[in-house]
Amino acid sequence: SHILVCGGTGCVSSGCKEAQDALKEELAKHDLASEIKIVETGCHGFCEKGPIMIFYPEGVFYCEIKPEDMPELVEEHILKGRIVERLLYTEPTTDKNIPAYQDIDFYKKQERLVLTNCGHMDPESIEEYIATGGYEAVGKALTEMTSQEVIDEVKEAGLRGRGGGGFPTGLKWQFAKDTESDKKYIICNADEGDPGAFMDRSLLEGDPHRIIEGMIIGGYAIGADEGYVYVRAEYPLAIKRLQKAIDQAEEYGLLGEDLFGSGFNFDLHIKAGAGAFVCGEETALMNSIEGKRGMPRPRPPFPAQKGLWGKPSNINNVESYANVPNIIRDGAQAYKEIGTEGSKGTKVFALTGKINNTGLAEVPMGITMREIIYDIGGGISDGKKFKAVQIGGPSGGCLPENLLDLPVDYDSLIEVGAMMGSGGLVVMDEDTCMVGVARFFLDFTQSESCGKCTPCREGTKRMLEILNRITSGEGRDGDIEMLERLAENIKATSLCGLGQTAPNPVLSTLKYFRDEYEAHIYDGK
Ligand code: SF4
Repeated sequence: SHILVCGGTGCVSSGCKEAQDALKEELAKHDLASEIKIVETGCHGFCEKGPIMIFYPEGVFYCEIKPEDMPELVEEHILKGRIVERLLYTEPTTDKNIPAYQDIDFYKKQERLVLTNCGHMDPESIEEYIATGGYEAVGKALTEMTSQEVIDEVKEAGLRGRGGGGFPTGLKWQFAKDTESDKKYIICNADEGDPGAFMDRSLLEGDPHRIIEGMIIGGYAIGADEGYVYVRAEYPLAIKRLQKAIDQAEEYGLLGEDLFGSGFNFDLHIKAGAGAFVCGEETALMNSIEGKRGMPRPRPPFPAQKGLWGKPSNINNVESYANVPNIIRDGAQAYKEIGTEGSKGTKVFALTGKINNTGLAEVPMGITMREIIYDIGGGISDGKKFKAVQIGGPSGGCLPENLLDLPVDYDSLIEVGAMMGSGGLVVMDEDTCMVGVARFFLDFTQSESCGKCTPCREGTKRMLEILNRITSGEGRDGDIEMLERLAENIKATSLCGLGQTAPNPVLSTLKYFRDEYEAHIYDGK
């Protein structure tokens, strides 16, 4: 038997290290240390209930564990075979205690393709990754497929960029492949900067080899022999695990020269970024890797023609690469079975805000927002009423209750003025001021604006001034119209995605919660 202990950043902050030490001590006291293996895993996704431990072989899910619970857990569960009821998860809607992982509502509606290993495997062990079918896909790609066949399979699968834009990944790879050059680069964007988002961090912490495998396949497809993972320095555990995984992959001959006897060489490096939001923009990210100030470059030339150090380059985000091994190993056909017509596969969302089950959930595309918030998220905290959900981070929009039954995919979200974004979902209850929410996001983008172009640098500042005025009860007649004019101009004329999308939270709250702006301005609320 063995015990899985969640070692994700969420559980670390709620005290899993201390609980794990107490567990080891208790097992040693009973001479059980050699019989029961403790495996520290990546994030289980259910961060609200951390620290989490799962006791096998039964698979009992214990949550909110403290070091002082260990004597009882060892005594009762391990020695007497009795479940410790008070440490089981309680469903918020039913007050029901649930003993097993798979029976918990939070997991029932999830489809865990890219998160399949997170929480179930030691992320610091390449052997465990290989034992779950890891690196099979890269072996297949390099020994049985041409680079064009790899790209065709990714195109056929319908994978779209999980960083937010939703651009078809296969097509992006094709552009980079089609540019002739003696040197190309493949880059992973792990600069996750949206407030409330932690999908990429959890993937890197919980299953780093999956990202490496996706990148080797991508490198082979476009003809790049070198890759960079650009990860923010605020993610020390992700960096540590990724570095360990790279070292292991080198040791196993999965990185380096002549991989699988194919003649293909590939090296991978980590570049720690200093956490500027704009460095999530791909050309600013490349500037930052080159050691320059992280500012976007005008396009064209596109990175596929002239990217890192002037060479053709391809950038995808962490979750996009994490999908690739499944597509190549199991084939596009199997992958396409999940999702909607225009959005295939799954999407990982970070659930935060006024929701009972904060955490990380991977769902099939096409699921409704209501299912995510109520069935997986357990509804609104403290029995309050739902008001809105912010999707897509500072580039996205706020959706009201009447859109909760909208199927979540790239295109449907754009139609209602939001966007998939990288996957942050911030839930707001009836007490939330929507003008305050718009102000919060604009304050964020305004302070993260790199200042290179005037509409974004000055325009967001003016918008913020107006929002500050409105929220402090000094709004004027004409402020709403001015906000709209500024927003449209900034969107149309900014150089990069940061500026082009910065007004979205204001526009979507004006669209769905205009009465709140009016109440502030005209009723002095
Ligand atoms: Fe910089 Fe904003 Fe212009 Fe982007 S839009 S280049 S972040 S000033």
